[in-house]
Amino acid sequence: MDAASTDEATDADETPEPATKSEEAELIELTVTDGITPEEFGPLVDQTPAAIVGALIGLGEMVAANGPIPVEAIELLGEQYNAVITVEQAEAAEGDDDEEAAAESAVGERRTYEDDEADLQGRPPVVTVMGHVDHGKTTLLDKIRSTNVVSGEAGGITQHIGAYQVTVNGNLLTFLDTPGHEAFTALRARGAEVTDIVVLVVAADDGLMPQTIEAISHSKAAGVPIIVAINKMDLPGADPNQVRAQLTEYELVAEELGGDITTVELSAITGEGIDNLLEVIDLVAQLEEFKANPEPLASGVVIESQRDKGMGAVATIIVQRGTLRVRDPFVAGTVSGRVRAMRDHTGAMVKEAPPSTPVLVQGWDDVPTAGDPFDVKESEREARSLAEAERQREKDDSVYMPTARERLEALLEQLRTADEAELRLIIKADAHGSLEALRESIAKIGRQGGTIRITHSAVGAISENDVSLAEVTESVIVGFNVRPDGKARRAAEQQGIEIRTYQIIYELLEEIEALLVGRLAPDEVEQVLGSAEVREVFKVPRAGNIAGSFITEGEMRRGAKARLLRDGIVVYTGEVSSLRRFKDDVRNVASGFECGIGLSNFNDIKEGDVIEAFEVREVART
Ligand code: GDP
Repeated sequence: MDAASTDEATDADETPEPATKSEEAELIELTVTDGITPEEFGPLVDQTPAAIVGALIGLGEMVAANGPIPVEAIELLGEQYNAVITVEQAEAAEGDDDEEAAAESAVGERRTYEDDEADLQGRPPVVTVMGHVDHGKTTLLDKIRSTNVVSGEAGGITQHIGAYQVTVNGNLLTFLDTPGHEAFTALRARGAEVTDIVVLVVAADDGLMPQTIEAISHSKAAGVPIIVAINKMDLPGADPNQVRAQLTEYELVAEELGGDITTVELSAITGEGIDNLLEVIDLVAQLEEFKANPEPLASGVVIESQRDKGMGAVATIIVQRGTLRVRDPFVAGTVSGRVRAMRDHTGAMVKEAPPSTPVLVQGWDDVPTAGDPFDVKESEREARSLAEAERQREKDDSVYMPTARERLEALLEQLRTADEAELRLIIKADAHGSLEALRESIAKIGRQGGTIRITHSAVGAISENDVSLAEVTESVIVGFNVRPDGKARRAAEQQGIEIRTYQIIYELLEEIEALLVGRLAPDEVEQVLGSAEVREVFKVPRAGNIAGSFITEGEMRRGAKARLLRDGIVVYTGEVSSLRRFKDDVRNVASGFECGIGLSNFNDIKEGDVIEAFEVREVART
């Protein structure tokens, strides 16, 4: 199974014992504190935290490795591991509710607030503009802002605070003007989804492109309504019908074609059609009836933050519930403060910010992190102690981060034991043909009670965006003839995201089938040794083409297995046949150095290619 490989460079030899009862094992007695986490509990029963997480999933409890295990579940866990467990109450900590709320919001979902229906009032929608690079997101946001925002105080210089509001038919619309799905996913990944409506910008002369498709996947994962803005209609090559036809491939059927997706033709340059877009957004907002309770102490999300020379630490907050007022004490993640002043997007000072309003807040002790939940507290003391508790929690958490392997094991445990299990995949492939073939074949795989959902599929290298999408949707990334780039690999390692890459279709299908029944025991695990960028190609008599390269990561080793990537796509797999520094043959070359690399039986090397050296380690089967 040479081609089936995994990218995580973690300790894969560690295979935890399955969580089963052993008849002979002696009963042990344990006393634990209420709120104990899988990380703390695992060692007590000789298990990895991942095995505990897995066992909990089997009991119907989704608990993070560093999250508290519910009391009832602790007792059941005890039965599984032959332990009689006594649970002691921890001393009641101040602000428990908030911590719970924060923990909930950390799983990548919109913050939810419990309010009586009677207290809810209409609020403006929060709109995010997404789409492929150069399709006109920034131009559109600028045009909407310049033609619809009334300029501010004397002087009237509008201020960039990361979001702005416009009025349409007397109704407010809030636009996030940090375009691009990076911002969108970063917010979501931090559990702070704020978007109510997505405007998907597609250039009429270019059609659907990779980032358009990513944006569609993100929006669908977030479950928010999508409005398609077909931009650049002023260009002669504009073909809106082509765009609509392409959209149907992604289950976005335009109204013109009998579906329910509104498409608006416009030009962000001339401004033609923009009024229409705003009307449509307003209409969707009216239909969706976005509401919030404006009464309580304010809660929301940090969408941008920075240190300003004059104002010190500042951050833009979108208020989601309640009303934010000057002098309110607040906490956001590890930072607390008191509202000293607030400005709206026109630069004007404001005293109050109701739901869906973006405001630039001054009065922070430090710069907060974008995406963190923001909450007003009764007192400054309370806000400070919550920030301190969060700092402590971060410190404790940094000690342990589940690896991709542990996450995968927890997932497998769930797939094996749950009645209704769903395996989520992000599929990247080298070409449309293979992607289609894969999607069709994967659709045929199934087991009773188990389904496969493809969260996102596209042609091209595995990117950092795929990794963040995998994180928020809890998917496994599968690559066919493509590889993750360095950034994606590092992000995956950091976030514990499993990436599996294949070069033979049936192996990929076999493994997915195995995954679905909750079993996967790779015989061989691949470890990347290093990668090099080809800067120049030399023709050497008899030796063929040699890649004059720069080692960007890890090291190159003569004799190591290697593959050559062009735009993230694997075009060759073989071996490093020769390695030279200046005139000398060498065994290995470290990162930061230049060298000449020869690949066995392969000459089609081009400038800009990436050579990746790897080794394959044997791992015991579970
Ligand atoms: P973004 O990467 O999606 O933010 O795209 P930009 O807003 O930066 O636009 C990319 C390029 O397309 C710029 O040169 C814009 O001037 C141009 N552009 C954007 N909208 C239009 C449009 O409606 N018509 C034409 N002709 N060009 C546009």
